[in-house]
Amino acid sequence: MTTAVATEYEVVVGLEVHVQLKTQSKMFCGCAADYFDVEPNTRVCPVCLGMPGMLPVINRAAVEYTVLTGLALGCAIPQHSKFDRKNYPYPDLMKGYQISQYDQPLCVGGGLEIEVDGVPHYVRLERIHLEEDTARLLHREDAHGEGYSLLDVNRSGVPLMEIVSRPDIRSAAQAGAFLRKLRQTLRYLEVSDADMEKGSFRCDANVSIRPRGSETLGAKVEVKNMNSFRAVMRAIESEVERQTEVLTSGGVVVQETRGYIDATGTTVSQRSKEEAHDYRYFPEPDLPPLDITPAEVEELQRRLPELPDARKQRFEAEFGLTPSEAALLTETRAEADSYEEAVALACPHGVDKGRARAVAHWFIGDVARLRHQEGGEVELSATPLTSAHIAELVTLVEGGTITLTTAKEVLEIAFESGSRPSAIVEERGLAQVRDEGEIDRIAREVIEANPKPVADYAAGKAAALQFLVGQVMRQTRGRADANSVADVLRRHLDAG
Ligand SMILES: [Zn+2]
Repeated sequence: MTTAVATEYEVVVGLEVHVQLKTQSKMFCGCAADYFDVEPNTRVCPVCLGMPGMLPVINRAAVEYTVLTGLALGCAIPQHSKFDRKNYPYPDLMKGYQISQYDQPLCVGGGLEIEVDGVPHYVRLERIHLEEDTARLLHREDAHGEGYSLLDVNRSGVPLMEIVSRPDIRSAAQAGAFLRKLRQTLRYLEVSDADMEKGSFRCDANVSIRPRGSETLGAKVEVKNMNSFRAVMRAIESEVERQTEVLTSGGVVVQETRGYIDATGTTVSQRSKEEAHDYRYFPEPDLPPLDITPAEVEELQRRLPELPDARKQRFEAEFGLTPSEAALLTETRAEADSYEEAVALACPHGVDKGRARAVAHWFIGDVARLRHQEGGEVELSATPLTSAHIAELVTLVEGGTITLTTAKEVLEIAFESGSRPSAIVEERGLAQVRDEGEIDRIAREVIEANPKPVADYAAGKAAALQFLVGQVMRQTRGRADANSVADVLRRHLDAG
């Protein structure tokens, strides 16, 4: 019954993403903005502590990072922008108000192209604005079970960029794809770590449902407290389910704020529309208006790196990669850089698609496997292996110095030791056996020692040849070319 009715409703989701900017100093003072793993209340000054009479000064780098993000996401950058005071009483707000932006944000419009199960979907953005982060409240309990709170002001004043999407998201899966693509883009821009676990990337979701075909929006429920992409998707799913049940049982969805409970995968009411704050926004009197000239926008446009989609398409065209190979190799900017560096080294006379693909297969295959063993997302630069190592490995295989089997062995040694593949090959005598006389000698020995498979082969069992090839390969420790070994064996066997 529920599922049959549920299909009559369309899911409408908009996301609000808060992103901490990776600037040296805070938004309005000179304190260091990095507070992760730092003693509480050591990165503070009269400005971010909210002392009366202290004057804020705009961090230009934070403005530039926000405009860069806007340009990457196709936003318009209005020439005039300003900061406003957002007033609300909460103990994490040192001044009793937050300096934010209201009616004149830094970036407007734009959007992000996402893909779910091969289906592209464009999510428009409403705006991107800049504000300051609040202090951190840590809730504790004393020996008698009495609750109390600790305040860490280190986070107060850290530059915070808020990216607001339009209600264009139609499923939890699309929300997940949007967040992944946004995080990837922010990391490419190097404006934020965008790490949800560390709190430098936070997301609230506005969820509503409406009868399919309807143009009006249903009552909007704001869902908070999600600490991972998976939590965001689960929260949306459970909220859609709850609202569907309310409507199908003849009820009315109430506009409210709800908190997501990870343990149960459900949401609970936090406050209704009636209790919503009236922020009484007004222009921040202590800061000048924020003007961005067209020349400044142009300068920032020039600073934009090649973005994930463009780079992926170029990798497909330039290196002959499949879309999924190109997607894997452009997942992070560091990975794409490492790959391109290795291709350049492996192709000193210009790009050779065969070699570029061989390099790609090492990155995606054995190198990825070794990095994974080191524990998840280990960047290549954090291992003893370099792009030069991988390029050399490809060159050694393509030039016939070592076999593919040997190359895998060499890679593992290089990954552990950081030694150059050519040095490993030389030290350990791993060069391919190309001495036909030696292969011939070993082949005859193997035939001599294995009368049963030889008889099988003579009786027409082709698999017996594979066994004999394996024996020769074992004796050469994988240093012979399997195809030539098969040729030599066949010659002897067929000659009887
Ligand atoms: Zn400060």
